[in-house]
Amino acid sequence: MSFLDQVDRDGYEQVVVFRDPEVGLKAVVAIHNTRRGPSLGGVRMWPYASLEEAVQDAMRLAWAMTYKAAVSQLPFGGGKAVIIGDPARHTRPALLTAFGRLVNSLGGRYITAEDVGMRVKDMSVIRRVTRYVTGTSVQSGGSGDPSDMTARGVLAGMRATVEELDGGGRHRSLRGLRVAIQGLGKVGYRLAELLFREGALLTVADLNQSLVRRAVKAFRAEPVSKQAIYRVRCDVFAPCALGGVLNATTIPRLRCRAVTGAANNQLAEPRDGERLHRRGILYAPDFVINAGGLINIAVGFGPGGYNRRRAERRTDGIYRTIKQVFQLARAKRQSPAAAADRLAEQRLNSGRRWKGPRR
Ligand code: NAD
Repeated sequence: MSFLDQVDRDGYEQVVVFRDPEVGLKAVVAIHNTRRGPSLGGVRMWPYASLEEAVQDAMRLAWAMTYKAAVSQLPFGGGKAVIIGDPARHTRPALLTAFGRLVNSLGGRYITAEDVGMRVKDMSVIRRVTRYVTGTSVQSGGSGDPSDMTARGVLAGMRATVEELDGGGRHRSLRGLRVAIQGLGKVGYRLAELLFREGALLTVADLNQSLVRRAVKAFRAEPVSKQAIYRVRCDVFAPCALGGVLNATTIPRLRCRAVTGAANNQLAEPRDGERLHRRGILYAPDFVINAGGLINIAVGFGPGGYNRRRAERRTDGIYRTIKQVFQLARAKRQSPAAAADRLAEQRLNSGRRWKGPRR
């Protein structure tokens, strides 16, 4: 299918390809949907092999942001930007300023934030030329790095998932639960810390062995290889590294009762949600459970500016949303993955339509 047919079929509102040769900027902004509010989503810097690949990635990510914002009942739509470049070489002020001007030219229909290859301090550079940016540093009154909030939300969703495994009771403790965490980066390590404090038992894997050693020492975690993590006999498998890790090869290997993790796009393809369901593994859909980071930056852009308490309260609401997904799945005899899409679509199409940026 051609790119333009895809824009049409999946209802994208606007896809912008922009270049500024003077500063070496090549960027794409994809606005999927602004029905609930301005599109909000981070800007990713990545050495894409082609413009086509960059456009595809921006579009796919923007689409997911629409669902994530809608299911979390945030007054935002879905958008995403990508800059083609190598983060190790390219984050120069001139380039960020040119990108900020591009965001500004969209007049508030797209709000940018930090994503892969970007840092909080880059957002402050962008802030000099546009107000349509969030996730600036805490020192400057912004919401800062969202990873802690993402981990907090995953923990809240994990609680709801474990209760569902136990037949829907309330406030089951996580003490003694065995959780296998794949990836000990910003979110995974923090999640390990929160789980350890709750008395959970951890098995961990990361490509970076120094992170593994740290977790072994700090949280008495059991280390395993990156291949073995899928086969760990555990209550919960928590993917916190890459997307696409739940697929036709890995799902048959899993020996967990549930999957609840932070990674984006965990299912390699939609039917992997059904595969998990058929195997009797309870899946907490990624875009519901990992919304804490989005909630954090959304609060940062909201009236009155960033307020950590408010962000925490809203993030803790992920517990309720995950419960709603499981209830809907039971009622409609669907997989949780299908039920989450349905809930997001219901929320997307309800309520008042956003009237566009104020001039
Ligand atoms: P990160 O880059 O800090 O951490 C990822 C970690 O995974 C790294 O330590 C890396 O070494 C490890 N890793 C990579 N491949 C691996 C493999 N095959 N096996 C084991 N470990 C592997 O990223 P992060 O910010 O912690 O985000 C983790 C995931 O959560 C990503 O998929 C991200 O898109 C998603 N996510 C993050 C946030 C956030 O607030 N940071 C919000 C929503 C979703």
